[in-house]
Amino acid sequence: MNIPVCSGTYIEEIIASLANLYDDVEKATHAFTARYGIACPPGCGSCCEHFIPDITHSEAAYIAAYLLFELKDEETIEKLYRHNGSGCPLYRSDTPFHCSVYPARPLICRLYASSAYHDKYGKTLFRSCRYEEAETMPKYLYFDEHVVTMQDFAYRLRSLDCDRGRLSLLSEILPDLLKQLQFIASLISHNDSEEPLVG
Ligand code: SF4
Repeated sequence: MNIPVCSGTYIEEIIASLANLYDDVEKATHAFTARYGIACPPGCGSCCEHFIPDITHSEAAYIAAYLLFELKDEETIEKLYRHNGSGCPLYRSDTPFHCSVYPARPLICRLYASSAYHDKYGKTLFRSCRYEEAETMPKYLYFDEHVVTMQDFAYRLRSLDCDRGRLSLLSEILPDLLKQLQFIASLISHNDSEEPLVG
């Protein structure tokens, strides 16, 4: 994601770090789902209809930058500000994969039903999506070998934030980050438009 107004700011660093992390997640989950025959049913978006993800400050900044500067999607931004429902405010049934910000979606959305996890006994397992009824993925898998887990990437994600990756509901934190970025962008454009001083 190339965000010219954020050049040299902490937002630019966040975007670069998260882009690297998300690249690694995509490669790892693609290999995992291909190896174990896991796929979502075509056209399904049930998880997003009934779920609001918890995300970090960095992830909220990433999505906000994507919405404001890459997508420039005022309709989705307005919808976010007005949201008071129980599903994800970024869910849109008429978009590919049903997500308004699919390339910038947060970590949990990339890992859900696409990776294994460690349970409280230290076992590594995969459990299918709770909404999946079309049998496009196994219900349970147990692993002795090393496989990609949610925890592997969660630790990396949390190391990017100085508050150790405190999680907030997307619908609560994203409007704040949008306002912050809109403010930064307005300051930059104001400074750029000022007449240079002539000595
Ligand atoms: S951010 Fe996108 S993928 Fe994640 S729950 Fe919302 S609509 Fe679904």
